[in-house]
Amino acid sequence: MNPEILIIAEQIRDDIAPVTYELVAAAKSLRKFTGGDIIILMTGGKNALAPVLLAEKTGLDILTITCGSQNMANEILLKNLPDALLSDLHPAWICMAQTSRGLDAAPALAVKLNAACITGVEKISFTDDGICFTRAVFNDKISARVKATSRTTVLTVAPGAFKPEPDADATAGKISFFDLPGVFDAYEWLGEKSGAEDTSALDSAEVIVSAGNGVRKKEDLGLMDQLAALFPKSAVTGSRPLCDKKWLPYNRQVGITGATVAPKVYIACGISGSSQHISGMRDAKFIVSINTDPHAAIFNISDICIIEDLTVFIPELITACREYRNRRLS
Ligand SMILES: Cc1cc2nc3c(=O)[nH]c(=O)nc-3n(C[C@H](O)[C@H](O)[C@H](O)COP(=O)(O)OP(=O)(O)OC[C@H]3O[C@@H](n4cnc5c(N)ncnc54)[C@H](O)[C@@H]3O)c2cc1C
Repeated sequence: MNPEILIIAEQIRDDIAPVTYELVAAAKSLRKFTGGDIIILMTGGKNALAPVLLAEKTGLDILTITCGSQNMANEILLKNLPDALLSDLHPAWICMAQTSRGLDAAPALAVKLNAACITGVEKISFTDDGICFTRAVFNDKISARVKATSRTTVLTVAPGAFKPEPDADATAGKISFFDLPGVFDAYEWLGEKSGAEDTSALDSAEVIVSAGNGVRKKEDLGLMDQLAALFPKSAVTGSRPLCDKKWLPYNRQVGITGATVAPKVYIACGISGSSQHISGMRDAKFIVSINTDPHAAIFNISDICIIEDLTVFIPELITACREYRNRRLS
């Protein structure tokens, strides 16, 4: 087994995370320039269903690593992949997702392999310089084209950047196993605790008002509540910094590590538009953004761009909406 491209599947307990199929799309796009085989590396028991499903859906071969504790987060496993396995596989490219897990494991794996590490890949192209990777820099304001010069390169692929294309004609790939006893001797799995996952209000909300780091004072969140209250099916969400500050619960965070929403209207208030946030709301039908920075990346995907301080604009908007509603009712 000597693949050109190795995909490290993103798993959520025993399931395959949807972003894994985006990794497959990215790897197939890379293969157009590199040729060679792609295989997927994942963890699981000998009777696990996930490898079978992945082999069927992608037509790619799967190498499943079996180990004592199936519950162990796979980034620990990845950092401990034995040299024997790595030198046996010897891929030129390793693709992982740009998620907390991928970003945790990718640099460690790159150091272990003396490889380059290119994160946040959004596009793969072939130019006079060879294979190039496009990634967003400076808070997504600028796109940089990067080329790897090492024999091996670890890539993290930005969620939402590569659309999975189901291959109806794919014949299921082969599944093989690699047993790794003792990898977890240094760790004891104490279980995991999930946050409350009541996202039902977000699923049914037609208008979502989302607060970002541009909201400087917790009291100003009241503006978002008042704005949302003007619409019957609405909800208030936020970007990760606001949830990290505990101003909003984590089940209100939109983005790759939060909820994915697709309301009729998404009003982004003081949100810069990082790829991690956008991947959770890009399917909104109509996006309104309020930001003081005319170059904010969120404006690139917005239908209406308002360059203004949110504490100035939102009260005006609320007043205008109330007046409009009162006129219609009278
Ligand atoms: C692995 C990983 C996962 C992540 N997952 C997520 C995720 O799921 N969701 C998420 O949101 N982020 C996530 N992040 C964080 C992400 O990278 C960004 O840091 C985050 O989205 C930035 O949030 P923001 O736009 O609110 O803040 P900032 O980037 O700080 O932007 C604040 C914006 O507010 C504007 N502003 C400032 N003052 C005002 C004002 N008075 N009025 C109007 N505008 C104003 C500024 O111009 C700026 O554009 C993740 C990061 C990593 C590494």
